[in-house]
Amino acid sequence: GPGTVLAGLVGSGIGPSLSPPLHEAEARRLGVRLAYARFDLDDWGLPASAAGEVVAAARAAGYAGLNVTHPCKQVVLEHLDELSADAAALAAVNTVVFREGTAAGHNTDWSGFARGLETGLPGVPLGSVVLLGAGGAGAAVAHGLLTLGAGRVRVLDLDTARAEALATALQARFGAERASAGGSVASALAAADGLVHATPVGMAAHPGLPLPAELLDPRLWVAEVVYRPLETELVRVASERGCRVLDGGRMAVFQAADALALFTGAEPDAARMRRHFDRL
Ligand code: NAD
Repeated sequence: GPGTVLAGLVGSGIGPSLSPPLHEAEARRLGVRLAYARFDLDDWGLPASAAGEVVAAARAAGYAGLNVTHPCKQVVLEHLDELSADAAALAAVNTVVFREGTAAGHNTDWSGFARGLETGLPGVPLGSVVLLGAGGAGAAVAHGLLTLGAGRVRVLDLDTARAEALATALQARFGAERASAGGSVASALAAADGLVHATPVGMAAHPGLPLPAELLDPRLWVAEVVYRPLETELVRVASERGCRVLDGGRMAVFQAADALALFTGAEPDAARMRRHFDRL
């Protein structure tokens, strides 16, 4: 029935998060009264493991659900009753839904990336894709690429063991020939259709380009995951060099749209959310 839908975000250092205004404004436009709270573990000096207490409190308080962000996306798993197949495969949850006393974990990072790529770079070839960055965002991106039907994903990371572990996990789920790790960025890109960048390089705290500019051949499409700032150096340079480019904003907006759909059962208008996101 009617009433206020309660949702929120748990993580560390989430003060600048755009999720509260993004969720609340779109819910309002859908005719849903939704209040979206921040649970910043830094405010209480608490470690990631305290996410479980926030989940328990939100469940007891009648919340519809929670978004979960860094550094809680893995630790939260042990506090949930159920996982979607994708969240289980990724062993990472960014959205918790409470329904009839049950806490279910979902992952809308991968679906957000996939929907962002489909709508932002429609029709780009997905035969061979290079993924730079094998952390949480990279794992979600790789799952999204292979779920969309990418032929092969080559994973590169400064931490080569991390890249190999992600490729091994992808091989087990999607087939041995569809994921690999290692090699140089130059040789990987020479045989690729596109590049997805999922390291922190390009954020204000890590400025710069994650690879030499001359490797950005105009034949490549380039998808960026960093979204603060929206125009990273990679987005700017790849655009200048003539590549088709996707910024990190679509993934951020679609992961929020997919989470809001889970919280409310309504169908958010992702294009409208993107226009709002661009004004925030
Ligand atoms: P993470 O720390 O889990 O992983 C980053 C990985 O990048 C690490 O494995 C690290 O070794 C590697 N790396 C760092 N610098 C590198 C370099 N120069 N070359 C190769 N590898 C390098 O971080 P994460 O959680 O995966 O987040 C990565 C970025 O994605 C952040 O900027 C985050 O804000 C962004 N992100 C965006 C969205 C979105 O919705 N658009 C969602 C999640 C994360």
